[in-house]
Parts: sequence; C-alpha cells; structure tokens
Amino acid sequence: GGTIGILGGGQLGRMLAMAAAQIGYKCHAYDPNADSGAADVCADFTCAPWSDRNAMTRFAGQCDVVTYEFENVPVGPLATIPPEKLFPSARALEVAQDRLHEKAFAEAQGGRTAPYAQVDSMDDLIAAVGRLGTPGILKTRRDGYDGKGQWRIESAREAEGLRLPSAGLVYEGFVRFAAEFSVILVRGRDGEVRFWDSAQNVHKDGILATSTLPPEPVIAAQVPAARELAAKIASALGYVGVLSCEFFATENGPVFNEMAPRVHNSGHWTIEGAVTSQFENHVRAICGLPLGDTSLVLPNVEMTNLVGHDIEKANEILAAPGLHLHLYGKGEARAGRKMGHVTRVWA
Ligand code: ATP
Ligand code: MG
Ligand code: MG
Repeated sequence: GGTIGILGGGQLGRMLAMAAAQIGYKCHAYDPNADSGAADVCADFTCAPWSDRNAMTRFAGQCDVVTYEFENVPVGPLATIPPEKLFPSARALEVAQDRLHEKAFAEAQGGRTAPYAQVDSMDDLIAAVGRLGTPGILKTRRDGYDGKGQWRIESAREAEGLRLPSAGLVYEGFVRFAAEFSVILVRGRDGEVRFWDSAQNVHKDGILATSTLPPEPVIAAQVPAARELAAKIASALGYVGVLSCEFFATENGPVFNEMAPRVHNSGHWTIEGAVTSQFENHVRAICGLPLGDTSLVLPNVEMTNLVGHDIEKANEILAAPGLHLHLYGKGEARAGRKMGHVTRVWA
C-alpha cells in the first residue's frame, strides 16, 4: 500500500480512488473546487488553486506517487513535484493539453489527423477556411472538453462574422467518419503495454453518450493501426499509466482526433466489462505493480452516460436486472453535466 495523490477531484478521481482502495492504497485528492466528488472517497483532500505552489509541494510530500485525472492542470506548478513521483510525466500532460501540440505529436509518430491550421487572428481564420474549406470546426487549443470551446463553421462568411476569443485556436476540417472509437492502453513502468478492446463511441451535442462493444466491423478493421499509433505515442512519451486516444474510422483508415493522458469516459465499461478496469490498471501502473488482465468478461457491453436530468432515471435503473449504476455524487443536475453512467454486460 501507500498514498496516491490525484490532481483533480472529479468523477475520474473518484473512480480511481475506489479502485485504489480495493488494492490497499489510500488516495489524497487536490482540486481548487471544494465540492469535489472525489473528496468523498479520498482519505484526504486539499482544496487550493492550481497555482498555489506551497500547497502543491505539501500535497506531493504527503504522497508516494502523484497522478492526474484532469488534463488542464497547469504544467508550471507541477514542476514542484519530484519527476520520479509523477506518473504520467508532466511532458505527457503538456502535449495532450494543447490540441495543436497533440496533433503535431501524433503526426510525428506517423498518425493521420484532420487537416488543421493554427488560428491566432481573424486573418489566420480566413486563410485557414480558404485552405481547408468548410464545414470545419474551430476549437480552443486548451481547456476544451465535452465539446465546449468549439464552433462549427459552415461558410467563409460565417467565419468572418465570428467574434474570436483571445485564446489560441485551431481550425479543423470536418472529418466525414463512418464511426468513432477509442484506443485505451495501459503502460507499465517497465514499458509493458496492454490494450482494452475498443468500444464504438457515439457523441450527442459534443458529449459522449454511449460506448458499445463489440464495435462495427469498420472499427474492428482499423483497431490494429490505431493501436500501433497509440503505442508509439505512449512509448515516445515514456508514458506510465492509462492513455486514451480517440479516433474517427474513415474510408481511408483511422484518423487521430485527440488524446487524454488519463483514464477516459469511453473506458468506464471496463469496471464491469473487463477483468481489470482502466482505474485499477492505472493504479497498478503508476505504483509499479504487475498489470492486470484487460480482456473482456463477456462479449457484449454497453455504457450509457447519465447527463443532466438523465439522473432522474436512477431508481428505474436500480430496479432493472443486469444494470450497473454509477453516480458521481455531484450536486445539481445541470444540462450537459455528466452525473453518472450505467453499464450492462451480457453473453
Ligand atoms: P472530450 O470530452 O472527448 O475531451 P472535446 O471537447 O475535447 O471532447 P473533441 O473530441 O475535439 O471535443 O470533439 C467532440 C466530438 O465532436 C468528437 O468526438 C466528434 O464527434 C466531433 N468532432 C470533433 N472534431 C471533429 C472533426 N474535425 N470532424 C468531425 N467531427 C468532429
Ligand atoms: Mg478532449
Ligand atoms: Mg474528444
């Protein structure tokens, strides 16, 4: 056993802490937000701003290893944590938290991305739309999640009418994909890599709605190439822990969308659907323990997110046979807020 520090106190931290507890580890979460869902299940909780270097130093001093469940932790203050204690490394976070860097990084490893261009001004945007065409999606380079910080652009005229935020942006050509999937892997301290099966992901309003196994054949055919890229990315980063890469399955093979240097919503099904969950294997990897078996328990899996008022179905879900309910202990059920999820696995 020992103490694991988790930067970020959302549902991912909460599920990490629950998995850690099962194999004898305590968790200490750090989050600027006092009503954090992970705090309920962690032995200790530090509520301080990301920029508070003293608080972060103290936090790291109380933990044997430190990890993160939120990819927008600023990299600067992380320098106060001894690198030999931080998994995955600050470098992985740095690459993944900037869409421009992550796309360039994936390309450097031989991956294909949507056509993209850096946008820092209206002139850049007009040039990008001229070069890449429409429709396209303008995204903030940093801080976006669940489709926030994204604008779909249908025409050059529409682009000209936008009021650009001051943040750095990237314009992406629209990818006409057949389906979406993710590759989730775990990499140990010794470099061993294991993959979970790739679920088919369906998004609604920019938010993951369902992850389903087995995926359609078009996905199954593209998983090997996508895995190869994900493993190269992990190895180039000297990655330790769970790494998630999102892909579009297209006519011309897999297109890399983005990565998350952490456990992923599209891997929540692994709690009941795989022999070892993404949460437990992340703990095993960062703690230098042997990795667990990632194989499926049963061939069919469906994970459905409970977003906003979907949470009102909780009692119905509890009453239904074969459904596993997970609630994140969040207060208010605002529209677009991930409140929980439900998983079904069957033969
Ligand atoms: P997450 O919550 O997964 O971190 P995010 O806010 O980072 O989401 P993206 O993954 O970039 O957002 O986009 C969300 C969804 O929007 C994608 O899963 C996909 O369905 C659609 N999308 C994003 N970019 C493109 C694109 N270039 N072409 C077509 N669809 C896209
Ligand atoms: Mg994202
Ligand atoms: Mg995404």
